[in-house]
Amino acid sequence: PGGFLEIITGPMFAGKTTELIKRIERQTFAKRKAALFKPSIDNRYSEDDVVAHNGLRYEAFVVPTNEEGVELIERITLGEGFEVIGVDEVQFFPPVIVETLNRLADEGIYVIASGLNLDFKADPFPVTRDLLVRADNIVYLTAVCTVCGKPATRSQRLIDGKPAPRDSPIILVGSSESYEARCREHHVVP
Ligand code: ADP
Ligand code: MG
Repeated sequence: PGGFLEIITGPMFAGKTTELIKRIERQTFAKRKAALFKPSIDNRYSEDDVVAHNGLRYEAFVVPTNEEGVELIERITLGEGFEVIGVDEVQFFPPVIVETLNRLADEGIYVIASGLNLDFKADPFPVTRDLLVRADNIVYLTAVCTVCGKPATRSQRLIDGKPAPRDSPIILVGSSESYEARCREHHVVP
């Protein structure tokens, strides 16, 4: 009863984290017990802020991006009796997060997950895709294309200022890598 699965998606800089924080904050104003979770890069459990590109921040549980991290989200949510949970960067978690979040929604929790739609090659992130088809509501956000100013649906990966080739390594040690929001026309994968 009252359970709901909502997915916020789009490319980088679309305002996904900002929207997630806004929605969690509104729920706390409505006196609902709410928590925010985010993946850790170094696989440790801690508490830290979720920070958006515009500086907006909100305190969060930081959980590892493995199956134990997903179990931790479920255990903390049910153990502490949270009525609303937000999960940022959901695409970084293993596939089991899809069933876990869906089940929490079945159990009456308002689950808001925010995640990237597509990787730098414009291939879907499977976790986001599989959550989208199960969602009760989808918030599809666009950024602004850095080339033409039109709505951007893709994330352009740049290495030393040039479009990253399709076969570029996932982790680039010591390289100057960056991302820009781009529309379909200006998204390039050499
Ligand atoms: P996301 O979580 O989707 O990456 P954030 O909520 O962290 O997005 O940040 C959104 C903010 O990013 C915007 O409010 C704006 O200040 C900033 N921003 C920087 N570059 C762009 C861009 N190309 N298009 C839109 N917003 C941008
Ligand atoms: Mg974000």
